[in-house]
Amino acid sequence: MKIDLKKLKLHLHATEVFHLQALGRDAYLRDIGGRYIEPVNVELVVENNGNLFIGKGKLYTVIELPCSRCLEKFSYTIEANFGLTMAEKTYQDYPEEDEDIIFFERDEADITSYIEQVIFTEIPFKPLCDNECQGLCPLCGINRNIDKCECQQEFLDPRWEKLKKLK
Ligand SMILES: [Zn+2]
Ligand SMILES: [Zn+2]
Repeated sequence: MKIDLKKLKLHLHATEVFHLQALGRDAYLRDIGGRYIEPVNVELVVENNGNLFIGKGKLYTVIELPCSRCLEKFSYTIEANFGLTMAEKTYQDYPEEDEDIIFFERDEADITSYIEQVIFTEIPFKPLCDNECQGLCPLCGINRNIDKCECQQEFLDPRWEKLKKLK
Protein backbone atom coordinates (compact mmCIF):
# COMPACT_ATOMS: atom_id res chain seq x y z
CA MET A 1 0.00 0.00 0.00
CA LYS A 2 1.89 3.00 -1.28
CA ILE A 3 1.17 6.71 -1.40
CA ASP A 4 2.63 8.88 -4.12
CA LEU A 5 3.49 12.22 -2.53
CA LYS A 6 5.15 13.74 -5.58
CA LYS A 7 2.38 16.23 -6.28
CA LEU A 8 1.65 17.14 -2.67
CA LYS A 9 5.33 17.81 -1.97
CA LEU A 10 5.21 20.78 -4.32
CA HIS A 11 2.41 22.49 -2.41
CA LEU A 12 3.13 23.52 1.15
CA HIS A 13 0.08 23.32 3.48
CA ALA A 14 -1.99 21.70 0.78
CA THR A 15 -3.94 18.49 1.41
CA GLU A 16 -4.54 15.54 -0.82
CA VAL A 17 -7.01 12.69 -0.45
CA PHE A 18 -5.86 9.16 -1.24
CA HIS A 19 -8.13 6.18 -1.80
CA LEU A 20 -6.24 2.96 -1.56
CA GLN A 21 -7.25 -0.63 -1.86
CA ALA A 22 -5.00 -3.64 -1.48
CA LEU A 23 -5.25 -7.29 -0.61
CA GLY A 24 -4.26 -7.92 2.99
CA ARG A 25 -1.34 -10.22 3.68
CA ASP A 26 -2.73 -13.41 5.19
CA ALA A 27 0.69 -14.34 6.55
CA TYR A 28 0.24 -11.56 9.06
CA LEU A 29 -2.92 -13.18 10.45
CA ARG A 30 -1.81 -16.80 10.27
CA ASP A 31 -0.65 -16.95 13.89
CA ILE A 32 -4.16 -16.25 15.10
CA GLY A 33 -5.79 -18.53 12.51
CA GLY A 34 -7.26 -15.65 10.55
CA ARG A 35 -7.37 -14.57 6.92
CA TYR A 36 -8.65 -11.63 4.92
CA ILE A 37 -11.97 -12.08 3.16
CA GLU A 38 -12.15 -8.55 1.79
CA PRO A 39 -9.42 -6.21 0.57
CA VAL A 40 -8.16 -3.48 2.87
CA ASN A 41 -9.70 -0.12 1.95
CA VAL A 42 -8.07 3.05 3.12
CA GLU A 43 -9.12 6.66 2.78
CA LEU A 44 -6.35 9.00 3.81
CA VAL A 45 -6.15 12.78 3.89
CA VAL A 46 -2.56 13.99 3.92
CA GLU A 47 -1.40 17.50 4.68
CA ASN A 48 1.99 18.81 3.64
CA ASN A 49 3.42 20.53 6.71
CA GLY A 50 6.78 21.25 5.21
CA ASN A 51 9.01 18.54 6.58
CA LEU A 52 6.24 16.34 7.85
CA PHE A 53 3.28 14.90 6.00
CA ILE A 54 0.41 14.44 8.41
CA GLY A 55 -2.21 11.87 7.51
CA LYS A 56 -5.65 11.20 8.96
CA GLY A 57 -7.41 8.13 7.70
CA LYS A 58 -10.11 5.53 7.92
CA LEU A 59 -9.75 1.90 7.06
CA TYR A 60 -12.18 -0.88 6.36
CA THR A 61 -11.74 -4.58 5.84
CA VAL A 62 -13.31 -7.91 6.74
CA ILE A 63 -11.35 -10.81 8.11
CA GLU A 64 -12.22 -14.34 9.10
CA LEU A 65 -11.31 -15.44 12.60
CA PRO A 66 -11.80 -18.57 14.68
CA CYS A 67 -14.12 -18.04 17.65
CA SER A 68 -12.19 -18.40 20.90
CA ARG A 69 -15.02 -20.44 22.46
CA CYS A 70 -16.43 -22.72 19.74
CA LEU A 71 -13.50 -22.50 17.26
CA GLU A 72 -15.91 -21.93 14.34
CA LYS A 73 -14.73 -19.40 11.78
CA PHE A 74 -16.72 -16.20 11.53
CA SER A 75 -16.31 -12.91 9.68
CA TYR A 76 -15.22 -9.88 11.61
CA THR A 77 -15.51 -6.36 10.21
CA ILE A 78 -12.76 -3.92 11.03
CA GLU A 79 -13.37 -0.20 10.75
CA ALA A 80 -10.87 2.12 12.34
CA ASN A 81 -9.68 5.69 12.33
CA PHE A 82 -5.98 6.32 12.50
CA GLY A 83 -3.37 9.01 12.17
CA LEU A 84 0.13 8.78 10.78
CA THR A 85 3.13 10.97 10.09
CA MET A 86 5.44 10.63 7.12
CA ALA A 87 8.75 12.29 6.36
CA GLU A 88 11.45 12.03 3.75
CA LYS A 89 14.32 9.79 4.73
CA THR A 90 16.70 12.74 4.54
CA TYR A 91 14.71 14.58 7.23
CA GLN A 92 16.51 14.08 10.58
CA ASP A 93 15.18 16.95 12.64
CA TYR A 94 11.99 15.32 13.88
CA PRO A 95 10.87 15.50 17.52
CA GLU A 96 12.37 12.60 19.49
CA GLU A 97 9.08 11.47 20.96
CA ASP A 98 7.75 10.95 17.46
CA GLU A 99 9.23 7.55 16.73
CA ASP A 100 6.31 6.47 14.64
CA ILE A 101 7.28 8.40 11.58
CA ILE A 102 7.06 6.50 8.32
CA PHE A 103 10.10 7.50 6.28
CA PHE A 104 9.97 7.45 2.53
CA GLU A 105 12.30 7.78 -0.44
CA ARG A 106 11.60 8.76 -4.02
CA ASP A 107 8.24 10.42 -3.18
CA GLU A 108 6.59 7.14 -2.34
CA ALA A 109 5.57 6.20 1.20
CA ASP A 110 4.80 2.57 1.96
CA ILE A 111 2.18 2.42 4.71
CA THR A 112 1.54 -1.34 4.51
CA SER A 113 3.08 -2.34 7.85
CA TYR A 114 1.53 0.62 9.60
CA ILE A 115 -1.93 -0.30 8.31
CA GLU A 116 -1.39 -3.91 9.34
CA GLN A 117 -0.56 -2.75 12.86
CA VAL A 118 -3.76 -0.73 13.03
CA ILE A 119 -5.75 -3.76 11.85
CA PHE A 120 -4.01 -6.00 14.35
CA THR A 121 -4.82 -3.76 17.30
CA GLU A 122 -8.49 -3.88 16.27
CA ILE A 123 -8.64 -7.67 16.54
CA PRO A 124 -10.06 -8.72 19.92
CA PHE A 125 -7.80 -10.77 22.16
CA LYS A 126 -10.57 -13.37 22.52
CA PRO A 127 -12.75 -13.11 19.42
CA LEU A 128 -16.30 -14.40 19.75
CA CYS A 129 -18.63 -15.47 16.92
CA ASP A 130 -21.43 -14.18 19.14
CA ASN A 131 -21.48 -12.80 22.67
CA GLU A 132 -23.87 -15.61 23.52
CA CYS A 133 -21.66 -18.31 22.05
CA GLN A 134 -22.08 -21.49 24.12
CA GLY A 135 -18.67 -22.84 23.17
CA LEU A 136 -17.59 -26.43 23.09
CA CYS A 137 -18.52 -28.99 25.73
CA PRO A 138 -15.36 -29.47 27.81
CA LEU A 139 -16.12 -33.18 28.11
CA CYS A 140 -17.15 -34.40 24.66
CA GLY A 141 -16.13 -31.41 22.54
CA ILE A 142 -19.52 -30.96 20.87
CA ASN A 143 -20.35 -27.46 19.61
CA ARG A 144 -23.10 -26.43 22.00
CA ASN A 145 -24.39 -23.78 19.60
CA ILE A 146 -25.39 -26.52 17.17
CA ASP A 147 -26.04 -29.57 19.26
CA LYS A 148 -26.80 -30.69 22.78
CA CYS A 149 -25.03 -33.42 24.65
CA GLU A 150 -25.75 -35.37 27.81
CA CYS A 151 -22.38 -34.67 29.43
CA GLN A 152 -23.62 -32.05 31.84
CA GLN A 153 -26.23 -34.45 33.16
CA GLU A 154 -23.77 -37.29 33.56
CA PHE A 155 -21.43 -34.87 35.21
CA LEU A 156 -24.10 -34.15 37.83
CA ASP A 157 -25.03 -37.75 38.30
CA PRO A 158 -22.63 -38.58 41.16
CA ARG A 159 -24.22 -35.88 43.25
CA TRP A 160 -27.66 -37.22 42.50
CA GLU A 161 -26.45 -40.63 43.56
CA LYS A 162 -25.38 -39.25 46.92
CA LEU A 163 -28.70 -37.52 47.37
CA LYS A 164 -30.48 -40.76 46.62
CA LYS A 165 -28.45 -42.54 49.27
CA LEU A 166 -29.41 -39.93 51.84
CA LYS A 167 -33.07 -40.74 51.45
ZN1 LIG B 1 -18.36 -19.25 18.98
ZN1 LIG C 1 -20.63 -33.02 25.95
